[in-house]
Amino acid sequence: MSSKLAYKAVDRKMWALMLQAGHVLDIEKGGLFDSRSGAVNVWASPDDKPDGWDIVTITRGALSFPRSFVGSVYTEYDENELQDMHFSLVDLDPENVVFLVVDATPYDRWEITGKNRPDEQEQLNKEMEWVKTRIDKLFEMAKANYEFEDVESIYCKFCDKRIKVVLVNDFISHLIEEHNVSVENVVIGDGVQIDTNIGLVEI
Ligand SMILES: [Zn+2]
Repeated sequence: MSSKLAYKAVDRKMWALMLQAGHVLDIEKGGLFDSRSGAVNVWASPDDKPDGWDIVTITRGALSFPRSFVGSVYTEYDENELQDMHFSLVDLDPENVVFLVVDATPYDRWEITGKNRPDEQEQLNKEMEWVKTRIDKLFEMAKANYEFEDVESIYCKFCDKRIKVVLVNDFISHLIEEHNVSVENVVIGDGVQIDTNIGLVEI
């Protein structure tokens, strides 16, 4: 049974920014990620979980918010493992590339269903797909930091003043920590749009 999926080839700087974005949206701050171990782990919440998870009761355990581990994205170095995975290497320096894979290890769901039922692969695929879409959001956020790295300050409409930052991530941390905002999505267009539970914030 396979629980691993090719995700993206990115450069090292992008991967570092993805890990940092995971830290900004950490499970202890109400987010779905934890990137303390050099991978990005993705956790489900009662409001945001994979298809087929209505059977799983997501509890707080030792954490600050109810969360249940679903899977991870991490770098893969094993060339044999990578043979069947198709990555786009457009515009990437081969010396500087990192291959990312998505993996699902849904312990709490396995507690209920077991790992060996006939439709297990189908359910695992749903879980990997869910992890992938959550990581897509983190990737967009990292991309915003990659493309807007010379920002020095960003206007905050909630404080009505400019906030000193190094990265867009610092401003997202400001929104989460000072204004108790939850960030749903980060979209890059002419500038950066941060989609939050209290509306769109444009940078
Ligand atoms: Zn503010």
